[in-house]
Amino acid sequence: MKVIDLINKSGKTLFSFELLPPLRGNNITSIYKLVDPLLPFHPSFINVTYHQEEVVYKKRENGLLEKKSVRKRPGTVAISAAIKYKYPEVEVVPHIICGGFSKEETEYALIDFHYLGIDNILALRGDAPKNQRTFIPEPNGHAFANSLVSQIAAMNNGKYLDVDLQNSFHTNFCVGVAGYPEKHIESPNLAYDLQFLKAKIEAGAEYIVTQMFYDNRKYFDFVESCRKAGINVPIIPGLKPICTIKEINVLPQIFNIDIPEELVKQVIGCPTNEDAFKAGIDWGIKQSEELIKFGVPVVHYFSVGISENIRQIAKAIFS
Ligand code: FAD
Repeated sequence: MKVIDLINKSGKTLFSFELLPPLRGNNITSIYKLVDPLLPFHPSFINVTYHQEEVVYKKRENGLLEKKSVRKRPGTVAISAAIKYKYPEVEVVPHIICGGFSKEETEYALIDFHYLGIDNILALRGDAPKNQRTFIPEPNGHAFANSLVSQIAAMNNGKYLDVDLQNSFHTNFCVGVAGYPEKHIESPNLAYDLQFLKAKIEAGAEYIVTQMFYDNRKYFDFVESCRKAGINVPIIPGLKPICTIKEINVLPQIFNIDIPEELVKQVIGCPTNEDAFKAGIDWGIKQSEELIKFGVPVVHYFSVGISENIRQIAKAIFS
């Protein structure tokens, strides 16, 4: 079922989460170990992230450096299919990105999803690789997520890249996109960012999943700004429970987010990472309770290799 239909038919706030494919060299069982403990709380859908190739430099025997492109977390399509068929009660939402894909390659990926019976997609641009300052699209690739959404919407209307194809199948993808309550890092201000968020909805996206935030007021204000800008689709809040003391400094640098003083004090004051993990769970429970009271359609949790914190939050909120 489409995420938008799950939202529309549900009278209450739904539970969902995101997982990352394991690091190359691991086994699919690490995914099942993460998902299984969360099933008793009836997740409506599970997102699977997509990771572009990264450039790494390997030292050769002669001392020279060899430049190599590697994908550290491959397997998005296969993991999505494995989840879909192992857990038929849960929908799966693979992510697809502009980075590293020509439009032809995007079409092949969409055809794979369609043949696998996957109806939901989160469409993203992707970030610039670590060694690059700005995002550079592939030749004949998409520069921004709105044009990726347009390509998916065109396939939903039976329009493939080969214009000579006759009677092509109309795919049935429900597309979600990303939104940034504290604005996207490259955007000069929120109003500027919102015009492009609106462009993604006008291109055919049916809902928004937000970047993580730790102060619910940022989300409430964002929803209000979106509505004023004429963005009327469901806006799903994304929460990432703090796991370690170090994250207090690292997350703002990576994701352009603010961490409220109260949470900073709590986490910095923790003697160990185990205490910080517990503080992250308590904060996540408080945030979730307030968001549900506000009437959010779904609370979506970002897992990073572990689900014990999400399990404890879900137990307090969704059982
Ligand atoms: P866009 O919507 O294209 O926006 C990117 C920037 O360009 C913004 O500053 C926007 O204001 C501006 N912009 C947009 N359109 C235009 C235009 N037409 N002209 C000029 N400027 C424009 N990354 C991954 O690599 N893999 C993942 O699986 C992944 N999952 C994510 C899940 C969520 C919920 C979120 C919030 C992010 C995720 N990301 C993922 C990160 C995401 O790829 C980055 O944040 C990326 O920098 C922006 O992606 P976007 O789709 O929001 O881009």
